[in-house]
Amino acid sequence: MNTCLKCKYYKIHDAKTGFCRVEVLRSGNHAAEKPLVQSENNCQQWVDCGQTYYIRLGWIKNITETT
Ligand code: SF4
Repeated sequence: MNTCLKCKYYKIHDAKTGFCRVEVLRSGNHAAEKPLVQSENNCQQWVDCGQTYYIRLGWIKNITETT
């Protein structure tokens, strides 16, 4: 499934949420909004983040085991 967690524009915040940087990265405007999104959501602008997905899974596993 194409979730935000697997999206190139997602910046992980915690196990279930992250910031969507699609506006920042597409416009090059660092002041653009980075809305908080749910990791299981998605949108039309989704782009596969490839291996980064597994790094994110490892990070989530790590924080959920230590908290
Ligand atoms: S809202 Fe869309 S562009 Fe933003 S992280 Fe999720 S799938 Fe990617």
